[in-house]
Amino acid sequence: MALIYEIGTVVETKKPHPCGGTLWTVVRTGADYKIKCNTCGRLVMLSPDELKKRIKRVIGE
Ligand SMILES: [Zn+2]
Repeated sequence: MALIYEIGTVVETKKPHPCGGTLWTVVRTGADYKIKCNTCGRLVMLSPDELKKRIKRVIGE
């Protein structure tokens, strides 16, 4: 099943980042996804499966 998250999409994760933020922006797609914490700006790289597990809902662009 293909993922359809595109660059610029804002997503909410189930668990908050250590900084307290739950909103992230997709900044890279492909074999691995890179998402950026909207609260502290930290970048995290995840496989599509990991990303899918972490996301609670997609906020939009
Ligand atoms: Zn953060």
